[in-house]
Amino acid sequence: MAQLAHKTIRAAVTREAVVAYVALGANLGDAAAALKQALHDLSALPLTVVSKTSSIYKTAALGIDSSSDSSPDYLNAVVELQTSLSAPVLLHHLQQKEQAAGRERPYLNAPRTLDLDLLLYGSGTIGSANLTVPHPRMMQRAFVLVPLAEIAPGLVSAGQLAAVASQRIERF
Ligand code: ADP
Ligand code: MG
Repeated sequence: MAQLAHKTIRAAVTREAVVAYVALGANLGDAAAALKQALHDLSALPLTVVSKTSSIYKTAALGIDSSSDSSPDYLNAVVELQTSLSAPVLLHHLQQKEQAAGRERPYLNAPRTLDLDLLLYGSGTIGSANLTVPHPRMMQRAFVLVPLAEIAPGLVSAGQLAAVASQRIERF
């Protein structure tokens, strides 16, 4: 048993790093402070290095929202990580950070103190009950594609950017 545990830990530590992309968003409270705190916290994740950080963008709230006309603008960014965490463990850390920032989910697409979405995990595709990668809605969102294109231009095509060009987004 002890030997098995030892082997498991060794496997976790020596797993080759994967390039992952995480989207950050906030539109409640001091969104700029929340994003800065999250950027700092991501750099302290175990077995993980933040290798690129996009600019921060100000974007219009999208989607179904029970108060859609009055939902405050978002601040958004995307980071590139080199991580040896598995995708589910990485998601778990992201969700812990959302909770620490006071995240509540009163209804779909509700304003949020902090949202951390796993966009891409290497070239992997994942379809489990609580994790879908690539993130299923990333291609419809300027607030994801524009910052992602800034740090990883090879991952976003001109056509994909053109498809979201009607969504309001500006550098913060
Ligand atoms: P959204 O970000 O779409 O507004 P939430 O942040 O409330 O919604 O997340 C809802 C659920 O989405 C979470 O419980 C999480 O398990 C699931 N989920 C599935 N795939 C992903 C992903 N790639 N990144 C983040 N959450 C995901
Ligand atoms: Mg989310």
